Order: sequence, then C-alpha cells, then structure tokens
Amino acid sequence: MLKGKTALVTGSTSGIGLGMAKALAAQGANVMLNGFGDHQAAIAEVQAAATGGSVAYHGADMSKAAEIEDMVRACEARFGRIDVLVNNAGIQHVAPVDEFPVDKWDAIIAINLSSVFHATRAALPGMKARGWGRVLNIASVHGLVASANKSAYVAAKHGVVGFTKTAALETATTGVTVNAICPGWVLTPLVQKQVDARAVAEGVSVEEAQRRLLAEKEPSLQFTTPEELAALAVFLCSPAGNNIRGTAINMDGGWVAQ
Ligand code: NAD
Repeated sequence: MLKGKTALVTGSTSGIGLGMAKALAAQGANVMLNGFGDHQAAIAEVQAAATGGSVAYHGADMSKAAEIEDMVRACEARFGRIDVLVNNAGIQHVAPVDEFPVDKWDAIIAINLSSVFHATRAALPGMKARGWGRVLNIASVHGLVASANKSAYVAAKHGVVGFTKTAALETATTGVTVNAICPGWVLTPLVQKQVDARAVAEGVSVEEAQRRLLAEKEPSLQFTTPEELAALAVFLCSPAGNNIRGTAINMDGGWVAQ
C-alpha cells in the first residue's frame, strides 16, 4: 500500500516507534529511523520486515530544533520525499509538581511536545506540494485525561492533541491529514521503568506490579501492543483515512471511557 512512499518515524529504536517502523516498512515504504540506543539492531529488524523499501537512520536529538530540521532534510535528500511522519519520540518522569526537577520538565516539553512542532513544520511543505501526507502524532491517554505525578507528560501530551487539531484545520482542504493516536498502557521500556519502580515501592513481584498498574487505570486489564497501534497507523495511511482529520483516537482498553 505504501510502495514508493517514505516514512520518518521519530524515536523508532524501541517500543511503539519500532513497531510503527516495521509495519510501515511491511507496507512497502522506505523508512528513516531515529532514536538512541542500539540503532543497528533496529535497522536490522525493520529491514527484515521490509517489502522492497530501504531503511535509513538519523541520530537527531529530538530536544534540539536544528537537529530535527537536519533529520527532515536528510530524509528528503535520501529518499526525495517524506509522505508519512510519525512523531513518536517521548520520555517520562514521575514526581509531584513541587518536587518536579526543572530540567526534567524542560526535557519532556522539548522531546514530547516541541519536537512534534519542529518535525511537522519542516515536513509539511513537501507533503502539501505533493498533495498527500500523513502526520501521526503519538500522544497518549494522558493527552485526554490526567494522572497524578505526571504534570510535564500530561501537559505535553494535551499540547500534542491541541497541536494536532490546529495542524489538521490548516491542512483540511489538502491531501495531508494530521491525527493523534492515544495509547493506554503499552509494555515498552518507558513503562517497564514504572512497573519496576512500583514493584520496589510496594514490595511485590514485577508480575504483581504489572497487574496493579493495569487494574488501576485500564479496564481491559491488558496492555495494548506496538503491533496493534501500528495497525491503526497503517489504517490511517490507507485511503479510508483520507478524511479522518484532527482526531485523537484512543486505544486504551477502556481507560478514558471511565
Ligand atoms: P520507549 O522508551 O520504548 O521508546 C522511546 C523512543 O524515543 C526510543 O527510541 C528512544 O531512543 C527515543 N528517544 C527518547 N528521547 C529521545 C531524544 N531526545 N531524541 C531522539 N529520540 C529519543 O517508549 P515507548 O513507550 O515506545 O514510547 C513511544 C511514545 O509513545 C512516546 O511518545 C510515549 O509518550 C508514547 N506513549 C507510550 C505509552 C506506553 O504505555 N508505553 C502510552 C502512551 C503513549
């Protein structure tokens, strides 16, 4: 479905972004990966999933506007275009407001929110000129509702949902759509840290900490998987997604229905 198209997926060396990159590559797209950690392993995984497209990597730090711009230009130079932009890179820090480290606040706002603006701003002119594009912003249920001790994350993700609506309005008469995807719990390294911290704090096993984490917020008592989220991304890239604009679609086991 995406043969001849190019996807740039930020934060795709791990977790949800890696799942998105594999699914888009499986649809035939060229994919540019980004993120920290073992990017060679991520490249190999995405290459194994690919069906004709090529895989590239750029190590831009998503807290740095100039590096984001450079990544977008490098992707356009390598593949001639960006058709699908998945703004996915994100970090978490958990602490009450009055104990929240200022540097963590700044980093979360930069990586989880401002990078969405910087990448979209740089990629949008090419999409508009070609008359087709998909911007998929990986927000969170925390773009729709709050949890205690996640002020920076909740503020950033609500910001992503608001940015998504504005960008969707500005592109409403074009072939470019902009939407947000709002996962509940997904068992990635970002969440494993929270499970491990809970196991220690409550003196329980990791399995019990996982069960408690789900029971608190997610009625299905199941983690959403990167593969399920990636299937939603592929759907939004299909012709069925042509007029889905400015939405925040939650895949959250019933979290925000409560
Ligand atoms: P993860 O930790 O597995 O992956 C995060 C990715 O972002 C990694 O590739 C990492 O290298 C990259 N990254 C982090 N900081 C970066 C930076 N400064 N520059 C470039 N890359 C950077 O986490 P995940 O759970 O897959 O999270 C992906 C996205 O999904 C995030 O935006 C997160 O907020 C969102 N999300 C996750 C969950 C969940 O339950 N895991 C739920 C809702 C939303």
